[in-house]
Amino acid sequence: MAVFDNLQLIKEKIKQSAIKSSRNAEDIQIIAVTKTVDIELIQKAIDVGITDVGENRVQELTRKYDVLSDKVKWHLIGHLQKNKVKYIIDKVELIHSLDSYDLALEINRRAGDINRIINCLVQVNVSGEESKYGISPDEVNRFFESIEDLKYVHVVGLMTIAPYTEEKEETRIYFKKLKDIYNNVAKLGFKNTSMKYLSMGMSNDFEVAIEEGANLVRIGSAIFGEREY
Ligand SMILES: *Cc1c(COP(=O)(O)O)cnc(C)c1O
Repeated sequence: MAVFDNLQLIKEKIKQSAIKSSRNAEDIQIIAVTKTVDIELIQKAIDVGITDVGENRVQELTRKYDVLSDKVKWHLIGHLQKNKVKYIIDKVELIHSLDSYDLALEINRRAGDINRIINCLVQVNVSGEESKYGISPDEVNRFFESIEDLKYVHVVGLMTIAPYTEEKEETRIYFKKLKDIYNNVAKLGFKNTSMKYLSMGMSNDFEVAIEEGANLVRIGSAIFGEREY
């Protein structure tokens, strides 16, 4: 089966990249990105060992959640609109895309309503591309300060999306930069923050990302094939 074979290959590559960076492959978690993938195929991926899936749209996540529920852990990896927080707050394991103060406030409010602390990653726009969401690198410290007193938001790391390029090596500088920011935030030690995760690397560039310290990789097309919209 394609999904099984694809996963075997990806796991082998993860192992090689982990060795290169002197780490354990077991410490690197695959988030299977299931946007546009139908429920039957997601179920097959779960059957062959996928434990975590990532969706970038709230409506798609909730539709699939209705069927699959706690058979798998749900990650929200795309830009999250404030008015949609209420639909996913009780469903997600981790929000990868905390990218504004207002969003943090809304997550805090909705999480408070259900008395649950929500784990989030701060998305950083390391490349500075206009088209990308995320806190700009020189705003990161101020951002962490601004959300420090939000009791129901717990920041556990950082996320970034590198610019797309045919030449994988070109992504390395962006992953290095996120790692530097990560180390700095960890050193400064904000109240509601414990740095554990670096979510970086996709089908095209996960090996480089792992070599630079990623421990969450968000992989879609390399598992499920090219997306059809
Ligand atoms: C679609 C998507 C991915 C996965 O992309 P692939 O290239 O298919 O692996 C990862 N992260 C985010 C935020 C995405 O939107």
